[in-house]
Parts: sequence; structure tokens; C-alpha cells
Amino acid sequence: MQEKRTRIAPSPTGIAHIGTAWQALFNLALARQSGGQFVIRIEDTDRKRFVPEAEALIYEGLAWLGIPYDEGGVKGGPFEPYHQSDRLDIYQEYAQKLIDNGWAYYCFATPEELEQMRKDQIARGELPRYDGRWRDADPAEVKKRLDNGDKHVIRLKVPKGRVIGWHDLIRGDVEFQSDLIDDQILMKSDGFPTYHLAVVIDDHLMQITHVLRGEEWISSTPKHLLLYEAFGWEPPEFAHMPLIRNTDKSKISKRKNDVSILSYREKGYLPEAVINFIALLGWSHPEGKEVFSLEEFLQVASLDRVQKTGPIFDVERLNWYNGYYIRKMVEEKGLAELGRKLMAYGFVDFDFPMDVLEEVLALVYERMVTLADFAELTDFFWHEVEVDPKLLLKKADATLVKMQLSLTKAFLETIAWKTENIEQAIRGLCEQKEYKKSQYFMMLRVAITGKTATPPLFETMAVIGHDEVLARINKAIKLVEGADAS
Ligand code: GLU
Repeated sequence: MQEKRTRIAPSPTGIAHIGTAWQALFNLALARQSGGQFVIRIEDTDRKRFVPEAEALIYEGLAWLGIPYDEGGVKGGPFEPYHQSDRLDIYQEYAQKLIDNGWAYYCFATPEELEQMRKDQIARGELPRYDGRWRDADPAEVKKRLDNGDKHVIRLKVPKGRVIGWHDLIRGDVEFQSDLIDDQILMKSDGFPTYHLAVVIDDHLMQITHVLRGEEWISSTPKHLLLYEAFGWEPPEFAHMPLIRNTDKSKISKRKNDVSILSYREKGYLPEAVINFIALLGWSHPEGKEVFSLEEFLQVASLDRVQKTGPIFDVERLNWYNGYYIRKMVEEKGLAELGRKLMAYGFVDFDFPMDVLEEVLALVYERMVTLADFAELTDFFWHEVEVDPKLLLKKADATLVKMQLSLTKAFLETIAWKTENIEQAIRGLCEQKEYKKSQYFMMLRVAITGKTATPPLFETMAVIGHDEVLARINKAIKLVEGADAS
């Protein structure tokens, strides 16, 4: 098999996008399966949108997810430099070649002129586009302007009347009419290349064999193919992944969604869950499996199982995976591992006693969807609770509840503090006094935890501790007295 060289080419313009991680997975799989390399190149030529810290976030996001790469990024490699901003002289040199061989030309139209052109076209009911005014300019005039140091761009001379097509590895045969393609700017007036020129030169020089990227670039591909032709280079294979969508079918975006990779870490998702979930966006396992590891994905992934329609980013599904992987971790590695994860993520302090943490985790881990749920599920273990007197008095009057609480206190006062003893005392009291079980247990749960839904009550009381439980019961008695008096 031919060794495949693939790449992601993120632009450091803000957050590290979850879609980048998704595309990285498939790029990595293609490279791995063929014994090739997966490269990270940083496309930082758009200086207006450049965000200095964005690049580090990309590496951090991928590292958190456990997605490795072979070349580029901070690793470097045989095709240095891997930042486009360090390759400006290369683009200059190749742009000059295009001028020399007639595939590109200088354009001196000013922004004002272009704006006027656009307005006139719209007024005439035409589609706004560059009208080719410098395409066949008099060479003497061009020379004069250049000698004069006039501001200019370099544009691609898109040939007329051509059909430009390729066999897309996801979408099949795709064709574009060259007459509908603008004479694309290749070099901006500030001496920076546009994406189109830089991406083609770099993919070629870095010997990329497969360009696997988002669908939003599909209409750029014919321009890129023309550039390959202009340089006399063999183009790579192309594959365009569908756009990820929201449950309402709109495109996922920064405004509507958490699209940043690291936001999922902040919210307490496990990388295994995120990987499993994104792997199944628009792709299905050949054996129909829903649960698998990154390693397994890398072995079996293939582009022929990638669908053309935009997959739905359904957070509910991600939640299911996260709960699943939390429980799997506990089963395979024990509660202490979950405790360590909570500390590593910053949800529990590092000096928190592990034995206490394990006791509490045993009671709540099955209900955790994300690691962040730990706080909400366990706050009543450590913090004073707010009790709503209405809940205490839900199915019984104040006199009865007060009596129930006082007797419970008396029954618990002197026992050796263990789950079995607590259970025995409370069940004994309930039977002896013929309390209605549902009322009595719920009332007690509310008095001790402030909540109507908690882990098993006796275990919970055992963990909270003798003195604290009795103090909470006392407080509840006062609350009931207050509610009764008012
Ligand atoms: N720099 C482009 C981006 O940010 C990469 C497009 C491509 O992969 O060709 O998405």
C-alpha cells in the first residue's frame, strides 16, 4: 500500500474546534493504516484573524484527547518550517513562477475601485465578481505600475470554458465550470499569500498524498486543481468531510454551541467518551459497534463509511458515552482512579483524603454523567444543607414530624455508627411506631440532605457522620417548630 501522508492545517484564529479533532481522527487513521505520517501545519497567514494563544490550544486539545501526530506542530520534521508565516519567501518564489508562465497576473485595482465595480454589477442585476480588468493588461502599463511601486495583488488566470473535476473519496465525482470561478487572489498586497496559494504549495512540498478536510472547502478545490496544473504538479487525492450539525440541523458554530475541544474537559467529559462520540459522527463501525477505543478506530476507520450528509452533534449521546466510560473506569481501575481523575480535572482538591472520597464516590458514581456532576451530587456531604420546611411537612403535620425527628435522634444517639446499625435503628423505629414508610423516609432524607433524591439514605448518613447527622436533625426540629408557630 502507498504510504499516505495526511495533514490538518488549522488556522489559529481562536478556539481549538471540535471539528478539527474530528477531522484529525480520520487523517490520522489514513496515515496509520498505510504506515504513513499525519502532519500538523499551522496556516497563520490571515494576520487579521490571528490569535496568538490559539495554536497552543490546538496542541493542548489534541493532547487531551490523546490524538497523536507524527510531524509538524511543535515536533517539526523534514519539511520545515510548518508555520506558513515562516514560509513567505517560498510563496513569493512560486507566485513569480506563475506570473512567468502566464498562469497569474498583477492586478492594481484599488479597494475603492473594486467596491464601485461590485455596486455597478449589483445595480445591473449581475452577480458581483472580479471583472478581469487587469487580466490582459498591456505589459508596458504593468511594468510602469510596478516600477512606480503601486500597490497590487497577484491573481490566478482562471482559464475559460473548462470543466474542472475530481473524484472525491467521500462525495464521488465532483465538477465545476471554470467560467464560474473568479480570478482568485493568490498574493495579497501585504506580500502574504492567500490560503489558496499557500495550501497548494505546502501540500505539494510537504508531499501530502491525501487532503481530507471540511466540506466548506469544496468550492476551493477547483482553484487548487488549477494551481497544481499551473505548477505541473500531480494533485493529491481529495476527500471532503460533511459539516457537523446541531440537532436543529443548523451548522454547529461558536455562537450556538460549545465547539471548543477544551470546553469538554472543563465540563468534565472524559477523552475516551469524546473520541468514541466524535468517531461516530457521520461514520459507522464496520461491525456496527457503538463502543470502541481510539486504537480500534484507527485500525478500522475508512472513508467509504463516511456519510455525505451532515452528522448531528447530539450532546445527549455524548452524555451517554461519558456515563458509560466513568462506570467502565470504576469497574476496571477502582474508585480511586475516578478520585484521581476528579483531582486532575480540578473538581476535587489534591489534598482531599482519598478514603473519604472513595466512600462518597461509591454512593454517587453511578449517577455521574460528567465529572462536574460530582459537586452537585455530593455537596450535602460536606456543606450545611438548606432544608425547605414544606418538604419536611409534605405528608404529615408538624406535631408528627417533630415527634418522628426527636425519636430518630434518640434512637441514633448511642449506636455504634455503621450503616447496618443506622438502618436497624431507623427501620426498628418505623415499625414500632407504624409510621408510613414513604412519608417517614422521605422526610428524613430531606432533613439530612436537603434533597428528595440522593444515594441510599443509610449509607449516606454513615458517611456524613454521627455528630453532623444529629446536628442536622436538631436543625430540622427547629425548622418544624418555626413552621408550626408561624
Ligand atoms: N486553514 C484551513 C482551515 O482553517 C485548512 C483548510 C484545509 O484543510 O485545506 O480550516
